Amino acid sequence: MVGLVATLKCENEVHLVVGSSPMSAFRIRTILEAGALPIVLITNDHDISPALREYVENNKIRLLKQEFTKEVLTTVGRKETNHVVDKVFVNINDKELQQTIFTECRRLRIPINTSDNSQLSTFTLMSTYTSGDFQLGVTTNGKGCKLAARLRRELSQHVPTNIDKICSNVGELRKLIKLEDKLDDSKDSEIGENDDDAVNTSKLNSLVKEFLMTAEEKKLRRSRWLSQIVEYYPLEKLATLNMEELSHEYSIRSPTPEPQAEPAQVETEEDKRPKGSISLIGAGPGSVSLLTIGALHAIQNADLVLADKLVPQAVLDLIPKHRTQLFIAKKFPGNAERAQEELLALGLEAVLRGDNVVRLKQGDPYIFGRGGEEFLFFELHGFTPRVIPGISSALAAPVLSHVPMTQRDVADQVLVCTGTGRKGALPDLPAFNPKRTTVFLMALHRIVELIPKMIDEAGWAPQLPCCIVERALCPDQRVIRTSLAKVADAVQACGSRPPGLLITGNACGVLREHSGSEWTIEEGYFDTLGSLANNVHF
Ligand code: SAH
Repeated sequence: MVGLVATLKCENEVHLVVGSSPMSAFRIRTILEAGALPIVLITNDHDISPALREYVENNKIRLLKQEFTKEVLTTVGRKETNHVVDKVFVNINDKELQQTIFTECRRLRIPINTSDNSQLSTFTLMSTYTSGDFQLGVTTNGKGCKLAARLRRELSQHVPTNIDKICSNVGELRKLIKLEDKLDDSKDSEIGENDDDAVNTSKLNSLVKEFLMTAEEKKLRRSRWLSQIVEYYPLEKLATLNMEELSHEYSIRSPTPEPQAEPAQVETEEDKRPKGSISLIGAGPGSVSLLTIGALHAIQNADLVLADKLVPQAVLDLIPKHRTQLFIAKKFPGNAERAQEELLALGLEAVLRGDNVVRLKQGDPYIFGRGGEEFLFFELHGFTPRVIPGISSALAAPVLSHVPMTQRDVADQVLVCTGTGRKGALPDLPAFNPKRTTVFLMALHRIVELIPKMIDEAGWAPQLPCCIVERALCPDQRVIRTSLAKVADAVQACGSRPPGLLITGNACGVLREHSGSEWTIEEGYFDTLGSLANNVHF
């Protein structure tokens, strides 16, 4: 059984610390940081360590010099709790006394922690790393505090150095949006606090119908954008994001010039200027290891990179900071068209200036990436893009989740389709074919409507094995295996972790089965080639 992980608000509480071991001095510091008053119970003056004496001299703690009696628990606390202490920390070796204090605390329902003894504790403390408002806590569920401390140290190495700035900036933006849009508290969860993360993201990821927004929905739009940005943007960007960038009314920096009907006959000064180039490049699904060498070369030689919001941070890190400008698309529900226009205008402005522009697209540029439209746009303006394919999430996610999309006698067809039709409607559904593996992109936020339609209207088999693959190739990759009949329940129960896709077909059950339970979950992807990013030089 694992414990319920929580953070406790302890401001103004009274915490009784029994004993004065070195552990007590450490504990007192954390109690003070949490805004509570420590009262330290010691039996004689020899027990006062120099650290403890300093706390007493600075009036930070109260000392109680006496033997432990049950009355202490109900007399030294604050008025609001009828003088019952709020928490008890026991740092003594006397086993009998430990047991007495524990029994009494249980009876009075006072939370108690006995150091090195989880049996005599109703709560245990985590090994924590703190930077501003960010806290990372590690627990091994009583298996070893040294191990927890080591794990915390190692894990904290992977925390961005400016994590406190990221938290405070996002917190500030939430506050401003709430204030400016006068969102009432019932809508607070739309901005993403107080809820369990996973459940919350599934709600936030629900579709915003760009063309059918009510006044109330419009009001919520910025808060939803912020939630989406928090979900998708590279963490580094979150430290500097501002209200202007969140606002809908940003302008496109230069008007799109009209395409020339006839090529100019005489070479003008304008024509003699160096012309830039545009490349449409697939960045792969989420890991540097699946970037092509062609894509890497283009990224490292670009003057401007216009990236999709889904392009992973590890790939963006390859862009040379000193010479290349980076712009990330503001493409979120409710803003897709404008964001696309903005991106194309920026690209055109730069190629006309003579820049080498890379339009960096997630996965493959021609699979649900509007790559064809972008190709035509630039060609119409006299710049034929170079296109470099990328590994599509539709092809990589099945491999990562152990689904051989074709398998002799099981599946001899593969279909990639979308779960979202135009203007947010459900798409036309493909007919059911038991020997086909189908990958649905952009489908998870519609899954509750999609699945009944597939089963009831298009005749898909309810027992068909399927997989949800989320954030394929990212360290927080998650695979959920289940059947078509249960997949919508699974997504609702587990929440969503975008981006994610649905794979259906008997091929899902060939290498891995899920049996018994309604769904099974596999977490994580260890990218052995990830460090490639630091070692590639051109
Ligand atoms: N051009 C992209 C697809 C763009 S459409 C490609 O070829 O991969 C965006 C959809 O792709 C998302 O809604 C999701 O369904 C899927 N997707 C993109 N990246 C993914 C990833 N790392 N893991 C799972 N699904 C992903």
